[in-house]
Order: sequence, then structure tokens, then C-alpha cells
Amino acid sequence: MKKIILIKYGELTTKKDNRNFFINTLKKNIKNKLSSFEFDIKSDYYRMFIYPKEEDIELILSTLRYIFGIYEIVVCYMSEIVSEESIKDESLKIMKKISFDTFKVITKRSDKSFSIDSMKMNNIVGGHILKNISNINVDVHNPDVYLNIEIRKEAVYYYESSNIIKGLGGYPVSTLGSALLMLSGGIDSPVAGYLTIKRGVELNYLYFESLPHTSLEARNKVVNLARELEKYNSGGTFYVVNFTKIQETIYKELDPSYIITIMRRMMYKIAERLVKKHKYLAIVNGESIGQVASQTLSSMLAVNDVTSYPILRPLCSFDKLDIIKISKEINTYETSILPYDDCCTIFVPKHPVINPNLKHIYSEESKYNFDNLIEEAIKSIEIIDLNVVKSELL
Ligand code: ATP
Ligand code: MG
Repeated sequence: MKKIILIKYGELTTKKDNRNFFINTLKKNIKNKLSSFEFDIKSDYYRMFIYPKEEDIELILSTLRYIFGIYEIVVCYMSEIVSEESIKDESLKIMKKISFDTFKVITKRSDKSFSIDSMKMNNIVGGHILKNISNINVDVHNPDVYLNIEIRKEAVYYYESSNIIKGLGGYPVSTLGSALLMLSGGIDSPVAGYLTIKRGVELNYLYFESLPHTSLEARNKVVNLARELEKYNSGGTFYVVNFTKIQETIYKELDPSYIITIMRRMMYKIAERLVKKHKYLAIVNGESIGQVASQTLSSMLAVNDVTSYPILRPLCSFDKLDIIKISKEINTYETSILPYDDCCTIFVPKHPVINPNLKHIYSEESKYNFDNLIEEAIKSIEIIDLNVVKSELL
């Protein structure tokens, strides 16, 4: 028997007309992530099969756990001998490898020319297992394990349910366009990015840095966060904007309580320019309602005023503790809590405005020609290759 991997689709099964597009994108994403392995892949309307080399299976399974659009990953056995005797023998071999008290056999006869029907096969195989393994029982309602047998013309496929790995669900990356994530070194924005990728959106990253007020370590930390997200995403571009002049100007020239609001408006103006240029469809950030003064609804309104693009805030209703839980699960937490200053934390005013007034914002912004500074910042954008190994970065 050959070991192969069966993939069951996630939420894309709710799609009708464009289901094939979702399936083909998932297939392309899987091929891409597994490009260092040799394998065949086949898909139909309901699932996908990967035919790997036996020695690659464990590594392939761990890679598949990072791919959105997969509901379940199942290690499955395939035998090209399609006969009653062989099905009995192979079923028994599989069930002998695991321990259980109760079981149920579920046969699917895709090849109707096979002379024994599914119900009868369930009884034959179930009886054979009962006879050869002691102290077990059949339970058709709530068994410990299911043994699934699918009889096709060319082969028989077997899998038992204790071998099922839960996939990440969601939609295959890039089925729903691309967006730009404002990625800081904090806990929130990587989680916001992860949740956005989960919905099939391909992510790119935008980091504002204020050298020398922030350090290169701070930048590397953000790059490493993006690398973690790239395990789920693929081929995202990482942009670094030199934000120093804009921040210093705001800090020196404008009403101190409005520093953060205006700084964030400048960030969004720059983000919008990039989004337009590269035809991304939205800006994503890690804001959560009420977390800090700049994340009240009035602050969001004042900031959204600079762009007509959708601003996705996947964490808007999340408690911090729930965000931390996800950041631990996706392995960004330990990097996020490294103590390097971020440009927002350095220029924090004593009393940031909670309900910013748009008229006041316009009058403050008119004190200085920010358009020139924005042009300069855009010209200075640096792109970082996320594939370069860590040690080469500093
Ligand atoms: P995080 O934990 O992600 O840093 P935060 O709670 O510290 O979030 P803020 O500093 O107010 O919140 O930032 C809100 C959001 O603005 C961040 O989640 C991120 O999306 C974006 N942001 C903040 N600073 C930067 C930066 N230097 N570069 C890019 N985006 C940033
Ligand atoms: Mg932050």
C-alpha cells in the first residue's frame, strides 16, 4: 500500500459557480509551498490528493498546516488491488496499527462495477476486523474511529479518522485580492495580518521607521514578523518608509495633543499612494476599538478622512488577551514583545486627543507643507527581501 495525502477543502465548499477557481488556486498555492518536494497532485470537486515520496510525508504534512483553504489533512493509504480479499486484509492492517474500543466502517463504492455494494462491504470488513482484533466493538452512532474505504476503478483508498489533522480553514491565499498591512513591531498588527490572509487576501507589508529615533533592531523585528506571516502568505513585498522628517515636523510644529492623529493621517496618505500604485485593494491595520486614544471611533473617523480605500481592522472587536492568544498560536508573540521602540511610542504626547476635531486638524496641517515631505518619504521607500536569511540583515 502507498501512503498518500488527502486534502478536504475548507470554506470554499460554499462556493458554487467559481468553486473551480478556488480549487485551482489552492492547488497552485500547495504546489508553490511544496516546491522543494517531488510529488503528483490531483484534484476534483470535493478533495485533492497528493502523491508524495514516503520519506517526505512528515515534512509535507507540517507545511500543509500553514495553508489556508484546507479543512482537513488526512494520511490515506492507496492500494491498486481492487478485490474483496485485499480490502479485508488492508483494512485489518490499518486498524491493527491503532488502539480503539469502538469503530465503524464506511465504504463508498465510486466504481459501481465492483460487485459488492457499500452496505455489504461494511459488514464484510467490519466482521473481519471484529474477528481478528480482540476486545473491540462496532458502534455505528459514536465510534472512537471510523475506517473509510473508497473503492474506485483504479485503486482502493483507505483512511481511519485518528489520522485526521485539522487544517487552517479559510480561503486560499490570493483568491480575494491583495492588501497592504501596516505592520509595526507590536502584538496586534501581525495577528491582524494573519486573520486577513485567512480570508484569502494576499498580503504586503508597510513599516514606518524613524531612524535614528528607532533602531535597526526594531526594523529587523518587524521583518521577522513579516517572515512569520509569509509562512501563510506568499511573495509579499515589504516596504520601509523613512518617516523621520514627517514625525519630527509634526512633533515640533503642531498642537501636541494632535500629534498621533496627524501622524496616523500621514501614514494612511502614504499607504494609500502605495495601494493605488500597486493595485492593492485595501489597507489593513491592528487597531482595536478603545485600545488607546488613537483607536476611538472618532479617531478612526478623523484618520479615515484621508483615504477612500477600505481600511480593514480585523481586530476591532477583539480583547487584548484574545489577540495575545492568537499571536502565541501563530508564533509572533515572542518576537513582538522584544523591547525595541517603535516610532509611535517615541512621539507619544502626554494628553492625546480622544475626540479629534477635523477643522482643527485641517488648520494644524495647513501650517506646514506636508505634501512635499510625503513625496520625499515615498521616493525614499526601501524594499526588503523577505527571503534573505536573518544573519544577513543587520
Ligand atoms: P501593534 O501592537 O500592532 O503595534 P498598537 O496597539 O501598538 O498595535 P498603535 O501603535 O496605535 O497600536 O498602532 C495601531 C496600528 O497602526 C498598528 O496595529 C499597525 O497596524 C499600525 N502601525 C503603528 N505603528 C506602525 C509603524 N511604525 N509602521 C507600520 N504600521 C504601524
Ligand atoms: Mg504599535
